[in-house]
Amino acid sequence: MIKISENIFALLEQSKKLSTENPQESMKLSQSALKIAKENNLKREEGYALIYMAYACRVECDFVKGLKYSFDAINIFSEINDIEGIIRAHNIIGIIYFYFGSYSQAIEHMFKSLSILKNTDYHFLKSCVIANIGEIYREAGDNEDAMKNYMEALEISNLYGFYENKAAIMLNIGKVYSGMDKHCEALDFLCKCKNILMESKDFVTLGEVENEIGKVMFKQGHIDVARQHYFEALKKLNNVKNKYYIIDVLINIGILGDETSKSLVEYFNLALKYSEEIHSNIKISMSYKCLSDYYASENDYKLALEFFKKYHYKQQEMEASNMVKSLEIKKLEFEYSKEKNEIENLKSIRSSMENEIASSLEKVENLKKINDKLKKESILDELTGIYNRRGLNEKLETLLTNHRKANGYCVIFIMDIDCFKKFNDYWGHLKGDKCIIDICKCISNIKRKNSLFARYGGEEFVYISMVEDFNDAYILGEEMRRKVEDLFIKYNEEPECNVVTISVGGVYTPVPLYESFDDLMKMADLQLYNAKNNGRNKVCLIKD
Ligand code: GH3
Ligand code: MG
Ligand code: MG
Repeated sequence: MIKISENIFALLEQSKKLSTENPQESMKLSQSALKIAKENNLKREEGYALIYMAYACRVECDFVKGLKYSFDAINIFSEINDIEGIIRAHNIIGIIYFYFGSYSQAIEHMFKSLSILKNTDYHFLKSCVIANIGEIYREAGDNEDAMKNYMEALEISNLYGFYENKAAIMLNIGKVYSGMDKHCEALDFLCKCKNILMESKDFVTLGEVENEIGKVMFKQGHIDVARQHYFEALKKLNNVKNKYYIIDVLINIGILGDETSKSLVEYFNLALKYSEEIHSNIKISMSYKCLSDYYASENDYKLALEFFKKYHYKQQEMEASNMVKSLEIKKLEFEYSKEKNEIENLKSIRSSMENEIASSLEKVENLKKINDKLKKESILDELTGIYNRRGLNEKLETLLTNHRKANGYCVIFIMDIDCFKKFNDYWGHLKGDKCIIDICKCISNIKRKNSLFARYGGEEFVYISMVEDFNDAYILGEEMRRKVEDLFIKYNEEPECNVVTISVGGVYTPVPLYESFDDLMKMADLQLYNAKNNGRNKVCLIKD
């Protein structure tokens, strides 16, 4: 039996080591530990396996499951009266609530943990729990209480020589000082932390510390020094391939705003890629925001807006999923207190649950409205109100799928306003905008069934329509060309001046697969080029 227990704890030790780098693998290990514990009716081991499963859940932001495992662990530890287990379970519950942003619940469980710890000599656990309490205060913006707890945790770690714990606490104290813009104090603690870890292989904390020093340097205006620290952080974190923290460093390098070997946008793109790989919504949204700011600073407002919208959607998605999670957590708490028959607790949870549901429903309604509006806005062109390129892509697949079944034919046109630069130069951009709007209105009025009309870029448009035959396609192209000519918009005020026209390039083809669309567009574009070369105000159409 002792041997089995040892094996289980060895598995759990491995699971713990992997929990931040590879939570899935870590979960697998503790699940197999759980299985062995159950088979051998080893209660204490079962409780610990559940706790390590909860750790893996925390890293993957699966808070509901994480809480469920921890509550189960508490029940088991209570049954066998395992004090250390109960303390650890409350600690992990507090941590999960903390990651979820429920600070009051987080602190409640940390305090429970601490009150049991008072009468024990688990000094290491005590320093961890007190440091965690500091962490909650820091995140909630209470620097003073954060510091008090960190210092207490540090004292215990000093007294008993818990070096790695000491380093982590110093890193956190450094972060608090840095947040308060007390640069000297921050650097003092960060460097001490670095010194302690010099010989260790704790690359995650080492990476974090370099990143933090870089941030302080940046705030003090030492850009080059900051960069050196960021790259050092990357090197450390790459040792353990810890994408979670690498993303922060990449973003910080991007924010330095000074190009080195890679251009800035590549750092933000890589940060986005990693964030997607680890499914971290917070980091994905952070990357979108950085990309949006980056493009705004490059005066590329189109891409800036695109990323801003993505950022906004992500924020909404997170808010909505947080609401759902918080309801699930309430349900879970409800279940567990039912088991324990804690009548008072039950009443208060039920009433807070009802309030939460009411306010959630209201929020969800509002979110839906905003979402619908944004969704519409994001597929329509702001100037003309017709579909933009995103709208075209969104609608195209359905149009093609619906008509491919009927073995029909279609035409894809690309149009471009002729000599539009000349128009803008004479009349100015505002009148230019009005001209684009008028041309769009006039083409929209053609109203063919089963067609799509979109603004493809500045003064370029796409028209896709199901047609009877080649001749029908040509008639449509001609109609568009002539209708624009008939608008009689002049390039300038000379009496004999030409009117604004469009050139039209097109390809007539059996309704294609969505995937072949790009190739057909290239063919249509070539025809547009021919139309321009043949004197403009022309329709050039080929068969695919
Ligand atoms: P071509 O016949 O070869 O197409 O000549 P062009 O002058 O139309 O082509 P060019 O590509 O040189 O210029 C396109 C112009 O369209 C330049 C740009 O300022 C203008 N343009 C693009 N988008 C807009 C817009 O949204 N509003 C206004 N007013 N002008 C735009
Ligand atoms: Mg053009
Ligand atoms: Mg043009």
